[in-house]
Amino acid sequence: MKCDVCKSKDAVILQPHTGRRLCKDCFIDDIRNRVKKEAEKEGLTKANKILLAVSGGKDSLTLADTLASFIDPKKLISFNIVEGIGGYNRSDQAKKLKKYLDDLGIELISTSFKKEVGFTLDDMVRSSHDKGLNISACTFCGGFRRKLINAAGREVKADLVATGHNLDDEAQTIVINLLRGDIKRLIRLGEIPVKLSDKFVLRVKPLRKIYEWETTMYAYYKGFEFQEVECPYISMKPTLRAKVRDLLYSLESKKPGSLLTIVEEFDKISEEYKRNSELKDLPKCKICGEPTSYGRDVCKNCELLIKSGLLNH
Ligand code: SF4
Ligand code: ZN
Ligand code: ZN
Repeated sequence: MKCDVCKSKDAVILQPHTGRRLCKDCFIDDIRNRVKKEAEKEGLTKANKILLAVSGGKDSLTLADTLASFIDPKKLISFNIVEGIGGYNRSDQAKKLKKYLDDLGIELISTSFKKEVGFTLDDMVRSSHDKGLNISACTFCGGFRRKLINAAGREVKADLVATGHNLDDEAQTIVINLLRGDIKRLIRLGEIPVKLSDKFVLRVKPLRKIYEWETTMYAYYKGFEFQEVECPYISMKPTLRAKVRDLLYSLESKKPGSLLTIVEEFDKISEEYKRNSELKDLPKCKICGEPTSYGRDVCKNCELLIKSGLLNH
């Protein structure tokens, strides 16, 4: 069967949400065009410097490769964090990541939790466990990663920070925040970033309209050998997310395009809300000085370290 777009090459992929069969080249072009469209709305094409948060997984490699196809790679700086997870953070993977980014002409900065926070993720999990606390590794991981990525963005004077979250992640996050009734966090998810603190570098997600299976196929067609070892803490991931993911996948299989509709419709609501409301600046943590949520004087990260006995206050 021939490709529905170029009509000349053999189709190798069926895109359920459009009903089209595509050849490899037209599939790659389609992904790049859709990322470019989102990147334009997010302001990436006008930015002078963009920090890319990369992990070496398929999403971050797809992020770097698609952005480098229409943005001068000199404007892109990638940033990788070694969490300090025994058996997971491997040096051969780090070398592969460096090579892919070198080939794309993108600079890479690497750091670790150990260097920036003083503890590896394993240390944090062990210490909180010893204190009899039931704090998931992902809570430490996500919180500190966000903090370090923001600090790196500030350090390199980036206009924007781009992460590799895909459509599946984004649709799940929207539904989770809806279920929790977390309107403030929900509204911040829209495609146009909102600046809630002068200490925050605006975060954007250029892959938020690209299905996860598409980022996997893109990385595969581009010959990326991405990290396939699963994080040993994956089973600690919040169960609500796993439930929402299963629910959304069953919806998507019955009605292809559902995830895209959730994100696109949500964007319209979010824009309308932002136009009609005044979002106040976030308060600052009295320990580390980083922005924290409304109503808090100590940020979640510092609170986690105090609870785990790793920070005296
Ligand atoms: Fe971090 Fe959890 Fe992901 Fe592991 S599964 S890398 S601990 S967020
Ligand atoms: Zn084609
Ligand atoms: Zn703090």
